[in-house]
Amino acid sequence: MANRAYNFNAGPAALPLEVLQNAQKQFVEYEESGMSLMEMSHRGAVYEKVHYETETLLRELMSIPEGYKVLFVQGGASTQFAMVPMNLLRAGTTAAYVATGSWATKAIQEAKLFGDVAVAASSEADAYKRIPAAEELKLPSNPAYVHLTSNETIEGTQWTDYPDTGSVPLIGDMSSDILCRPVDVSKFGLIYAGAQKNLGPSGVTIVIIREDLIAKPEGAVPTMLRYDTHAKADSLYNTPPTFAIYMAGEVLKWVKANGGAAGMAARNNEKANLLYDTIDSSGGFYRGFADAGSRSIMNVTFRLATEELEKQFAKESEAQGFVGLKGHRSVGGLRASIYNAVTPENVQALAGFMRDFQSRNG
Ligand code: PMP
Repeated sequence: MANRAYNFNAGPAALPLEVLQNAQKQFVEYEESGMSLMEMSHRGAVYEKVHYETETLLRELMSIPEGYKVLFVQGGASTQFAMVPMNLLRAGTTAAYVATGSWATKAIQEAKLFGDVAVAASSEADAYKRIPAAEELKLPSNPAYVHLTSNETIEGTQWTDYPDTGSVPLIGDMSSDILCRPVDVSKFGLIYAGAQKNLGPSGVTIVIIREDLIAKPEGAVPTMLRYDTHAKADSLYNTPPTFAIYMAGEVLKWVKANGGAAGMAARNNEKANLLYDTIDSSGGFYRGFADAGSRSIMNVTFRLATEELEKQFAKESEAQGFVGLKGHRSVGGLRASIYNAVTPENVQALAGFMRDFQSRNG
C-alpha cells in the first residue's frame, strides 16, 4: 500500500498491515459462514473457536503457566484501575502502589475510592523520569497487593526487572508493553492490558489472573466488575467484544509468525536503540526525557531546546507523513510510540527525518 502513514500513534496504534489485509478479506463473510464474524452469535461454534483460539495463542506466546485464568473484559485498562481494588482490597489490608507517572497516578486515585492505599515507592520528585529500584519499595504492614505500571506510556519509562514481592501478589498494568518481550508471568498475581497498543483494536481488555485470587469480593460489587463472574464463564458471561477478540487473535498469529515474544523483543530493541542513538548522538539537539536506565522500548520521549522548535518538528514531520509524534498534552515534548507492529523501516525513516531536521535547525 503506497500511502500508508508513518504511524507513531500512542494508542490506538499501528496494526500489522498483513493483519488488516487478511481481516479485510474475511470482513464480509467469515470462513464460508454466510455472514461476517460481527453478525454471528457469541454462543455459536464459529465464534467460540475464535474465542478459545485467541486465548490459547496468548497462553502460548506469553508462556502463561497452569493456574492462571485469561479473561477478556471490557471497559479498558481504566476499568481495571477500579476492578483490582474492588476485588482484591479487603478490609484491614492496604493496597501498595508504585508511583511511576501519569498512569500509575490514575490507578492510585481510583484505588483510593475503595480503601486504604499506600505509595510504596515514587519517582515524582524526579519528574517521573525514572523507574524506582526494587530496593526502594517500602510495603505497608498488611499489604493486599503491590501494583506497578510496567510501561509509562506518557513519560516513556519502563520496568526491566520487576520486584520480587514474595507472597504479596504483584499486579502489573501492561497496557502499553504486553508481549513486547518475554515476561515471567509467574511473578505476577494479575496482569491487565487494554488491547489497543500491542494486541489489536480497542474494545477488549486482557486480564491474566492467578486462580487463588479469584474469589467473591467483599461488599456489593456489580456482577460485571467481579473477576469470578468472567472466570467462571470463560469470558462468555455476557456478550464479549467479538470483533476485537478476533482481531487480537489475528495479531497474535502475526506475533507467532514473527518469532513470538523473543522475536518482538529483538525487533523492539533494535527500533528503540536506533531512536535513542539518534537522540544521544545529536550533541544535545535532542534530549531524551527518561533517565537512560529507565528508557522505554515502546514510547520514546524527547525534547528540543524550545517549545517553538518542538512545534516546528511536529508540523514538519506531519507534512512528511509522520503521525502521532506530539507528546501527550500533559507533559509536552515529542513522543514516538513504536509498539510491536511499527516496522523497523518506519523507525529508520523517523531517524532519518530527525537527522535531517537537526541539520536544518541545529
Ligand atoms: N494504563 C496505561 C499504561 C495506558 O497507556 C493506558 C492508555 N493509554 C491506560 C492504562 C488506560 O487504558 P484505557 O484507555 O484502555 O482505559
